Amino acid sequence: MNVKKDRFEHWSAEDSATLYGINDWGAGYFHVNDKGELTISPNPGKDAPAVSLPDIVHGIRERGMNMPVLIRVSNILESRINQLHASFRKAIEQTKYKGQYKGVFPIKVNQQQQVVQDISRYGREFHHGLEAGSKAELIAALGTLHDPEACVVCNGYKDEEFVDLALYASMLGFQCILVIEMPSELDVIIERSRKLKVKPMIGVRMKLSTRAGGKWTESGGDRSVFGLNTAQLMELVDHLKEEDMLDCLRLLHYHIGSQIPNIRDIRSGVQEASRVYIGLVQEGAPMGYLDLGGGLAVDYDGSHTNYQHSRNYTIDEYCVDIIETVGEMLTEADVPHPDIITESGRATVAYSSILLFNILDVARFDPVTIPDKIPENAHDLTKDLMNILSNINQKNLQEFFHDAIYNRDELRLLFKNGRISLRERALVESAFWHIMAVANKEVQKLSYVPDEFEDLDAQLADIYYANFSVFQSLPDSWAIHQVFPIVPIHRLNERPTRSGILSDITCDCDGKVDKFVDLHDELHTLPLHELKPDEEYYLGVFLVGAYQETLGDLHNLLGDTNVVSITISPDGHFDIDKEIEGDSVGDVLSYVEYDAKELITFFRSVAERAVRRKMITPAQRKTITNAFEDGIRGYTYFER
Ligand SMILES: *Cc1c(COP(=O)(O)O)cnc(C)c1O
Repeated sequence: MNVKKDRFEHWSAEDSATLYGINDWGAGYFHVNDKGELTISPNPGKDAPAVSLPDIVHGIRERGMNMPVLIRVSNILESRINQLHASFRKAIEQTKYKGQYKGVFPIKVNQQQQVVQDISRYGREFHHGLEAGSKAELIAALGTLHDPEACVVCNGYKDEEFVDLALYASMLGFQCILVIEMPSELDVIIERSRKLKVKPMIGVRMKLSTRAGGKWTESGGDRSVFGLNTAQLMELVDHLKEEDMLDCLRLLHYHIGSQIPNIRDIRSGVQEASRVYIGLVQEGAPMGYLDLGGGLAVDYDGSHTNYQHSRNYTIDEYCVDIIETVGEMLTEADVPHPDIITESGRATVAYSSILLFNILDVARFDPVTIPDKIPENAHDLTKDLMNILSNINQKNLQEFFHDAIYNRDELRLLFKNGRISLRERALVESAFWHIMAVANKEVQKLSYVPDEFEDLDAQLADIYYANFSVFQSLPDSWAIHQVFPIVPIHRLNERPTRSGILSDITCDCDGKVDKFVDLHDELHTLPLHELKPDEEYYLGVFLVGAYQETLGDLHNLLGDTNVVSITISPDGHFDIDKEIEGDSVGDVLSYVEYDAKELITFFRSVAERAVRRKMITPAQRKTITNAFEDGIRGYTYFER
């Protein structure tokens, strides 16, 4: 379908920035330059030079790596951590809060070693710690970070081995806090700490009655799976008192969900938690930490609203609201201000990863031209359909639209019953799509779009075949209809004249992206450029640093993508710090229990038999088996 093709005025890079909302969701990290290229500015607000994404792609290709590639920009990660701490520091100074802020990064949000290492390095000056939700994550944390002032918060269900590891960490000087998620864990902690003769730092996760709006809200509310309700909390306190261990209770934790779009929910959670904190201090626990969990949202669509993919607050507002609320409530209750911990994952890592891929092909929506003359013996319904095509307009739009659908369906039935010819049916189908295209053009002019036309534009969109797997690289787009900003990274000073949806290279009908960010709504199609012969067309999916890598799966055996980690230097160059090759075909086959050697042996013997039967020559056998073996060593994605 053509987008405003009738208007040929000048198109500038600035128009593209507006069209794709880059300044809205980009948080200052992404811009468009005069050449129409998308650029990265790792330090928003500062005058540092921006680096062009096409230049980065060029550099990666020159080094022999293929698309798709996931780019991690270390400076953006650094900037996010700095910003979080700067905002909390400002809020603490403004409100004369007495405690400190201590962040921890929840490893589950991006477990890749390089990311966790970068966070530990950049967070060092702020004593930014880590949160582990399993034994494996605790091992990753203890093997990456050693800062006696940073916290290591242990959530998740804990067996003896998990508890022992945490206690050993305490012996080594880690601030390792065991957060009780269910009452039975306390006995294990008491027993193991007595045995190992170490005083545990105990935290407790509570169930808040506060529920947050948004997509990921199951973590909050009385019926949430994790945490203790108030009665269980009192039993815990009594149990600790009996064991003479109440002095080990140091932290109160809650987590009402990820991506909380509305600041009201955040505030009401803090209020309830502050009240519980005060109660625990009044019971005689020393406490000292209040851990608010995650939830700090990312504005994926840039709309700055309480829509599920956005947030109606800034980081500054988030911090002030928290610090002010806790400060006021505790001062009033005459309880010392605790150190505040948040477990922000999404907001820390989302911006720093970009998925880049090329377009392999396009299926254009262009119904074939209709012959001028309709056969004399055409069915009346066919003649009627042609009449609709000639006469549809704004006034009769809805009526003719419905008539067209009715006629088309009736004519299909007639075809099934052998009453019209294959050629006539083809004519009917193309006339039908021509009508839909005209209807869609008329619909665009309406100020209010009736429901039945809602996804007409998507039906008429081109399909751009994209070299990646939704299941591997954007699992949340498929599983929970999360939207991510998607933009061509070049040609942004050309008007995009097509509108399309993306189909990935899995052969699954769910392997597509047909929801795109918009300030007011979600769009069903994305404005795109016409492909040029002999020129790659690259798109980027932005804000994919949180959750996507870890949740991805091997649908159709498309494996991990190549990963390139870069740092942008103050002079506007970029250094490639690390390249991690994606999975080879052999790698993914081994994940599903194949043995590459066995496959090769088997295939060779098949080829040998073909030689014996004189179906191929021995030299052909060599070519064929080499191709097979190269295939096993190769990338799972489309290579040019
Ligand atoms: C998932 C999770 C987080 C991270 O939440 P974000 O919204 O990504 O910051 C933090 N804490 C706990 C307990 C979690 O389960």
